[in-house]
Amino acid sequence: MRIKCPYCGERDAQEFTYRGAAGLKRPDPDGETAQEAFVDYVYLRDNPAGPHSELWYHRGGCRSWLVVERDTRTHEIVGATLAVSDTD
Ligand SMILES: [Zn+2]
Repeated sequence: MRIKCPYCGERDAQEFTYRGAAGLKRPDPDGETAQEAFVDYVYLRDNPAGPHSELWYHRGGCRSWLVVERDTRTHEIVGATLAVSDTD
């Protein structure tokens, strides 16, 4: 599998580390259902068959965080963009 990093170009997936689904939102710790929300956030994840947005870290290159669009059935990489924090 090869991933096209926006900075480094197309590189082998061995240079990257998978860090889970992209776009997960940390629950509000002060919310009424915070305990249940955190259990769901930490332990219960979807396992989609098909297109999926994933967070990858380019540890063997530019050390950027990327959002990679990958089809989990075929491992086809549709695209990769720099991950942007909500606080930016
Ligand atoms: Zn890179």
